[in-house]
Amino acid sequence: MEAKFWHGGLEQNAVQCDLCPRRCVIAEGRTGFCHVRRNRAGRLIAETWERPAALQVDPIEKKPLAFYRPGTRTFSVGTFGCNLGCRFCQNDHLSRHGMEGVEAAKLPVVSAAQIVDLACRYQCESVALTYNEPTVFLEYGMAILQAARERKLGTVLVSNGYIEAAPRREFYPLVEAANIDVKGFGSFYESLCSGTLPPVLESCRYFKRELGGHLEITNLLIPGCNDSAEQLEAFLDWAAEELGVDTVLHFSAYFPAGGFRAPATPAETVLRACDMAAARGFERILTGNLRLRGVAGGGRK
Ligand code: SF4
Repeated sequence: MEAKFWHGGLEQNAVQCDLCPRRCVIAEGRTGFCHVRRNRAGRLIAETWERPAALQVDPIEKKPLAFYRPGTRTFSVGTFGCNLGCRFCQNDHLSRHGMEGVEAAKLPVVSAAQIVDLACRYQCESVALTYNEPTVFLEYGMAILQAARERKLGTVLVSNGYIEAAPRREFYPLVEAANIDVKGFGSFYESLCSGTLPPVLESCRYFKRELGGHLEITNLLIPGCNDSAEQLEAFLDWAAEELGVDTVLHFSAYFPAGGFRAPATPAETVLRACDMAAARGFERILTGNLRLRGVAGGGRK
């Protein structure tokens, strides 16, 4: 499938991808940073088209979405590839892969209509683009969301929000509910994610303020990286001002993953963030990944 959002006319048949702020210039035969958008003979190809790497029925709360169709199932779809390079990635078995390996060769071909058939067969009320970053499979993702809407299913996006304005304007109106990661303020994106924060904030603002979508935000707290009082204050200042205190906030604990060696987040850190948010007037605050007295899971505050 030819990709959307790119242009050619560059030297030696290179193309530039205009989908995310990375704006990769891609030589013939190569892929961009995300591993799944390839220059084939001067055209950009979306290699994830109809090639899901993960399909699963999930409780909607697992996305996490706590206030959108609670108690229902969602049919989750993910592919390989990601456009950020988070060193602490908890899904790197998907995000760091492209479509060249043995595993990719074994992936089934599943159309958008088949995804929606499966969602209905398993009594899901919605479909969710999730697990890896849906921006990198935008063409397939949009087809799935369109098919879901035609069958009156809900549509969910779980995203890092790292996308350019033009694709955001085409993609996000298809989404009813989103959970977007706001990973950290200060220099967090530059130092640990190989990205930048402003496009992520704009994705949140655009989805909630301009489209009126149901937005929940996840902030994964990593000790010594994004859990200082200054960083949390900056996050809460922005969320209160730009999104409003009715926004649902999820503060999650980190566990060592992807070769990144920060210690696991103490429960006190997560609870302190919740208290700071409550003091600002946020009312819908949830915890994630907490293990208290041997019980795993999140809770509604
Ligand atoms: S979507 Fe992929 S290829 Fe396109 S700019 Fe972003 S990382 Fe590069």
